[in-house]
Amino acid sequence: MPKNKKRKRSMPDDAKHHLKASMKGSWYNQEDKQDQRGTSVSSRKIQTETEYLQEENRGNIIMDLDILNSQIGEHTCCSKCYGKMNLSVIPSKQNGLCSSLLLKCQNVQCNHTSEFFTSKLCTSSSHSFEVNRSVVLGMRLIGKGRNAASKFCAAMNLPQPVSATPYSDHTRHITEKTKIVLLQELLNAGKRGHTLKESEDENLCPESVVDCGVTIDGSWLNRGLSSRHGFVTVISIDTGEVLDVHYMCSVCPECSKWEDKTSPEYLEWFLSHESECMLNHDGSAQSMETEGASILFNRSVQKYNMRYNPFIGDGDSKAFLRVLRDKPYGDIEIQKEECVGHIQKRMGTRLRNLITKYKGNFSVNQAMGLLVKSGRPNGSLMTIK
Ligand SMILES: [Zn+2]
Ligand SMILES: [Zn+2]
Repeated sequence: MPKNKKRKRSMPDDAKHHLKASMKGSWYNQEDKQDQRGTSVSSRKIQTETEYLQEENRGNIIMDLDILNSQIGEHTCCSKCYGKMNLSVIPSKQNGLCSSLLLKCQNVQCNHTSEFFTSKLCTSSSHSFEVNRSVVLGMRLIGKGRNAASKFCAAMNLPQPVSATPYSDHTRHITEKTKIVLLQELLNAGKRGHTLKESEDENLCPESVVDCGVTIDGSWLNRGLSSRHGFVTVISIDTGEVLDVHYMCSVCPECSKWEDKTSPEYLEWFLSHESECMLNHDGSAQSMETEGASILFNRSVQKYNMRYNPFIGDGDSKAFLRVLRDKPYGDIEIQKEECVGHIQKRMGTRLRNLITKYKGNFSVNQAMGLLVKSGRPNGSLMTIK
């Protein structure tokens, strides 16, 4: 080894554990991958191939039609006359990303054909294809709409996605199903939280009202607190699961089409629209969190036989003050505890700002000797052990 080349040392074990516990390090939750790293590449390859052979061939693939056609022409034969087969797409039956393919015997006297779609139907009674619904779901998951899907398909040389009307139908369908799953999952999370409390105290039964420490967090569609859509969540500190969610919206596209909201026509129309009106918040985006917290606390006993107590604050105490004022649990006062993670974050930010402000000012750096690494006049935050 050349003299000037340093030997690379691996990270000491205690440092690895510290990093893992800090939830920041790349070692966190990577145990499975570490185990995998221990096995050789060839053994992993054999494992994957065996798994592949054992598994049913399911799912979708993207395939060049020329390759598929040439393979079919070369290696398949007609079930009637053993002649060569030819594959073609039927353009008139294209449905979004689902194509209709035609296998045709090349023997003119036989003319045996087989027609099939490249995707399954969502359900046996449905007219929608799985692949088209999956595209809509995928786009919703990454926060994009139909135009993005269209661009993606164009770049991939795929057929275009379904048109605007069926696209909205798929979206509506996904929304309905998601709501059902969400309600079920929240209910299960609530039950798990309650069961945990019952296991800690033998005097408790499923009907008992238990205290469960939670933290409240709000999130908005856009940053900058000008968003018209937001939601507030309750997260249990015992299980780490989301217990309840409340969606809030300060605009309804249907209602905003009406200019005069006092006319009898509007009032008549509103009666039929009320059940599906999206507007459920009157106020600023910032007030959504306090309003949502109030709604969530008020329905906790009815929904889960749970009192959200203590309240773990995230540094912003407005939601807590509101809940305190509401007294959702009568005389039982809600306790507040501060989240150490948020204190760390806020204090760290403020200290870093101080250092940036006094950069180059040596006397201040000397005064902040505890926080600033010695011998570095420009300073940076360091951990004090
Ligand atoms: Zn044939
Ligand atoms: Zn409305």
